[in-house]
Amino acid sequence: MAQDLAKLAREKGIRYFMISYTDLFGAQRAKLVPAAAIADMQKDGAGFAGFATWLDMTPAHPDLFAMPDASAVIQLPWKKDVAWVAADCVMEDAPVAQAPRVVLKTVMANAAKEGLHVKTGVEAEFFLIDADGNAISDAKDNASKPCYDQQALMRRYDVIAEICDYMLELGWGPYQNDHEDANGQFEMNWAFDDSLVTADRHSFFKFMVKSVAEKHGLRATFMPKPFQGLTGSGCHAHISVWDKDGATNMFYDAEDEMGLSRQGYHFLGGIMKHAESLSAITNPTVNSYKRINAPRTVSGATWAPNTVTWTGNNRTHMVRVPGKGRFELRLPDGAANPYLLQAVIIAAGLDGIHSKADPGERHDIDMYQFGHTVKNAPRLPLNLLDALRNFDRDEGLKAALGLDFSAAYLKLKQREWDSYAQHFTQWERDHTLDV
Ligand code: ADP
Ligand code: MG
Ligand code: MG
Repeated sequence: MAQDLAKLAREKGIRYFMISYTDLFGAQRAKLVPAAAIADMQKDGAGFAGFATWLDMTPAHPDLFAMPDASAVIQLPWKKDVAWVAADCVMEDAPVAQAPRVVLKTVMANAAKEGLHVKTGVEAEFFLIDADGNAISDAKDNASKPCYDQQALMRRYDVIAEICDYMLELGWGPYQNDHEDANGQFEMNWAFDDSLVTADRHSFFKFMVKSVAEKHGLRATFMPKPFQGLTGSGCHAHISVWDKDGATNMFYDAEDEMGLSRQGYHFLGGIMKHAESLSAITNPTVNSYKRINAPRTVSGATWAPNTVTWTGNNRTHMVRVPGKGRFELRLPDGAANPYLLQAVIIAAGLDGIHSKADPGERHDIDMYQFGHTVKNAPRLPLNLLDALRNFDRDEGLKAALGLDFSAAYLKLKQREWDSYAQHFTQWERDHTLDV
């Protein structure tokens, strides 16, 4: 029985509910509903014009209803009057197949039928920049190797501690915060959980980080590569698969050299097999491809992969096995849609299990220095168009994510690419004016 939101409002002093869904481009769309109206909205949903958001709908479509998922309600710790609640999109009483949270729930249900429950943790890196978005907000944060910079971290203590306090209050199990490898870049970590819980928290985290930064007169960005020459913002995902009651990690095998079970290797094999196409979702923007495939950054390393390779505890590959019973996918970036990120991991991994996919040879080398010695390692797509074309050709992955979703996603993303390709740049003038 879903909890009664009107009752929750009375108990917690909530005046407004923000009924929020995430569209295909990862934008959070919301209606602010007074507590007096929440009982009806909980039953019938909040109405939206789907065309007005990125869901591949027309102005002629009937109303889209965002049905609040009362198990995913979060009272804003910085504005207790308001509670955010993740919603699922419904139209004419049927789930909207291409809505990202619906896509994830469908993929999870397919996995659950086979007794598989994926748990993940994400590392959503971000930059704190000035309010107009042009520069890093802290002019003193200019070290050439700024990772873990104690002084620069403490100059942003007010922002970071406020966010971490909120995560503590919400019971997410945050356990560390640091200055990351680029000037102005930070990372905050909280405990892994079921993929839907992680996706909702990931969404809320982005909303919270941006809101708290704004409160402090700053701006937070999760853009994959906001500054040329500096390390970009990844969103690594750590992955394991559990049995029904979440008691047994099915990826864990104490006997194995890497601590991974056969099922774990097959799941990893699925990720490797689909990497060149799933990057259309894990790396969904034009800018994403300036983070992967990037030249060495000022700090000495991009910390992002270029090729489809895996290894043990070594951060120069696409996949790292940092400890027994899980692996880390280092490909996703800050632009990844929190729901589609989880969905594509599960879809690719499940296919790997079904097809008994082999992840291929493990390469225990510094990939940045000796990558050229690895023969036949597939290169990750060089740009969004390559990734979209790969995804379009990957019939298995498209089917696993749902054909309606895949068609809608490809259509809107292709339009985004076209808009970029039609844009004239200074680079063209600089390199072409005198031909
Ligand atoms: P690193 O920077 O070394 O890659 P972090 O500590 O920043 O790692 O992030 C690790 C993430 O992985 C956290 O969200 C953590 O909860 C999660 N994690 C740890 N163990 C597992 C596991 N078995 N399954 C899924 N996620 C895990
Ligand atoms: Mg980390
Ligand atoms: Mg990591």
